Amino acid sequence: MERLQKVLAHAGVASRRHCEELIVQGHVQVNGKVVRELGTRVDPQADHILVHGRPIQTEQHVYLMLHKPTGVITSVSDPRGRRVVTDLLKEIKERVYPVGRLDYDTSGLLLLTNDGELANRLAHPSYEIDKVYRAWVKGVPSPDKVKRLATGISLEDGMTSPGEARLLETAPARDKALVELTIHEGRNRQVRRMCDAIGHPVLTLERIRLGFLTLEGLSAGQYRHLTSSEVEKLK
Ligand code: URA
Repeated sequence: MERLQKVLAHAGVASRRHCEELIVQGHVQVNGKVVRELGTRVDPQADHILVHGRPIQTEQHVYLMLHKPTGVITSVSDPRGRRVVTDLLKEIKERVYPVGRLDYDTSGLLLLTNDGELANRLAHPSYEIDKVYRAWVKGVPSPDKVKRLATGISLEDGMTSPGEARLLETAPARDKALVELTIHEGRNRQVRRMCDAIGHPVLTLERIRLGFLTLEGLSAGQYRHLTSSEVEKLK
């Protein structure tokens, strides 16, 4: 038996604090009765728990790492019928959701889970997880421009927070260079916009690392379950 607010937070309803408010305000029912007592203990498998009249999700948690290929949408469905990331997880019965997103044209490491609490935490800006990208960009950026990528770039939605950037490879004859960027934010099309801002648009983009997780052993389109120690480390 566990405390009701913990069970709700674990099911991804909201933060622990907000779940407490939902309980006190009478939005939570257990086995048909409104429960306002914060200490109430419940069995998430046996008790029927509703928030705003809807059942919470109490299935087993699943944590996956996908090597997303390009040409796939980071979504669980697409009204236009394009391929979505969950199409690549046919053997997975549980309803998992992507943690953050990669653009249609971006490949690389994507986490998917049905653990809403962990997903919310990972997506929160205060959880400063390293997001490491490799971008082939047009032209060869000067050392000064590479430094700007690291220190901060002014975008229309504000300055980017400090990260790291280095030039890994140059191919001047083919007018391109490979840049590695480590950022901690996850704004829409952030890396592409940062590279545009220094005058070196992205040609191809891949996320190669998320915190301590890398794509090692996974080719594009493949996925694996995280080990329990990897899950513990993320929490
Ligand atoms: N930055 C981008 O521009 N695109 C992504 O998919 C991820 C980060």
